[in-house]
Amino acid sequence: MQRIDKVYIGGRFVSPHGTEQFELIDPSNNETIGVVTLGDVEDARAAVAAARKAFETFAFSTIEERLDILERLYQAARERADDLTAAQTQEFGAPVKRSRFATGLAVESFRNAQVFLKEFDFTRKVGHSTVEMVPLGVAALITPWNANAGFICNKVSTAIAAGCATVIKPSEMSAIQTQIVTEFIHAAGLPAGLVNIVNGRGDTVGAEFTSNPHVAKISFTGSTAVGKAIARGAADTLKRVTLELGGKSPNILLDDADFEKAVPQALGACFYNGGQACIAGTRLLVPEARLEEVVAIAERAVKDFPVGDPKDDRTLIGPMVSTRQYERVQSLIETGIKEGARLVTGGLGQPEGLEKGNFVKATVFADVTNDMTIARQEIFGPVLSILTYRDEEDAIRIANDTDYGLHAYVSSSNPERARKVASRLYAGRVAINSPAPNPFAPFGGFKQSGIGREYGTYGLEEYLEPRAVMIDEPQAMLETAS
Ligand code: NAD
Repeated sequence: MQRIDKVYIGGRFVSPHGTEQFELIDPSNNETIGVVTLGDVEDARAAVAAARKAFETFAFSTIEERLDILERLYQAARERADDLTAAQTQEFGAPVKRSRFATGLAVESFRNAQVFLKEFDFTRKVGHSTVEMVPLGVAALITPWNANAGFICNKVSTAIAAGCATVIKPSEMSAIQTQIVTEFIHAAGLPAGLVNIVNGRGDTVGAEFTSNPHVAKISFTGSTAVGKAIARGAADTLKRVTLELGGKSPNILLDDADFEKAVPQALGACFYNGGQACIAGTRLLVPEARLEEVVAIAERAVKDFPVGDPKDDRTLIGPMVSTRQYERVQSLIETGIKEGARLVTGGLGQPEGLEKGNFVKATVFADVTNDMTIARQEIFGPVLSILTYRDEEDAIRIANDTDYGLHAYVSSSNPERARKVASRLYAGRVAINSPAPNPFAPFGGFKQSGIGREYGTYGLEEYLEPRAVMIDEPQAMLETAS
């Protein structure tokens, strides 16, 4: 049983003003594994005050000072990598293989930030103006449970690279990961108040960060519904807002693809994290004439995605994060059946022997049409919908016929053809076949998948404001005149 009863403000672990107790549950057996004391609005305000103070100095920090802090964070994070992996598996139910991968990305984000910080041009010449890229101020970082540690590390490293001070509201469901991150941030010996972390509820701590006039920017990752509420709340003080929201990503299987390879890859793109991933490729679009071939491969390949104990290295699909999430996924599977989709494999109920936890069967539906609920709503569970298209034009139309636009996938043996299709997809990222992740390319959504971008210099720009300084001097006058 872990007891987390401090918030991190001004470089110190302090008892929160808030008193609400929140239970942490292991989703693989629904046993209580910890209790966290949640901060409240008072704690949120204290965190913002500490960050404001830190920003007064940090705004003028040199690139070398920021690089040094990022390297110290990298070293400190590496020390806790194994703890972070174990915590993600325990409190989120992420298969340990996946947790190791996610930990690697989280730790590397401190090195990646050094790379793009070194190459970024903070001062640019535009005619007789000098454009200075200036840190925005205090940035509030709000994260979801499905990769809480990774999102904190990515956001905080970018904010520090930009010269911003931060207040963080992590998902209250991921407090063990948060505690490890807080401990290594403290161990890195940062200027007091540069990073402040307050466990708390969205409608208290999150809402206070959103409305507080001393917060200049919100970087939020989470659901589209909460993202909209944050955008509304932030409007009164015209905060800069980056929103990384939900998705319903299409995966277009072109007829020249190697189906034996591409269909299992499509299952992988959907079942990653038990489907609890914003980028999950949940709509597999296949040529009409080859539907049954795809269905047969999918039915066979699903056995290579074992559902089970997330601590077991062979497991690829762990439990849903909570009983609430389990019930939501069950209800969407039921809706799929009622609306006439054909259940190929999986379906309602729990896999045998896994009744104690929030496990869902790896589920594949065929004969799904794009107007069905399971093709439109983000399910956030291991549920793949197979839809058919008549020709390439039809595939592109169906792929784009969604409120979302976070990610898309295309499989083809012809890279030129795949690129042409990709260029017509309204998605922030398009993966052709099965590329390695790129932490420097922009990440974010079209349409209701969000606003703004993260990662690399694109992410860095989101924490900066341009200031154009024009100088009235003879040389400048001459240049303008010529
Ligand atoms: P959520 O929106 O319920 O919560 C996200 C965070 O916002 C939590 O910390 C929560 O406490 C906080 N919050 C809730 N109400 C708030 C309010 N009124 N004001 C301020 N903060 C508030 O999301 P979740 O269930 O934790 O995560 C799953 C969702 O996140 C999915 O929709 C998924 O697609 C999305 N997601 C998006 C990305 C991306 O990069 N685009 C990545 C991962 C997850």
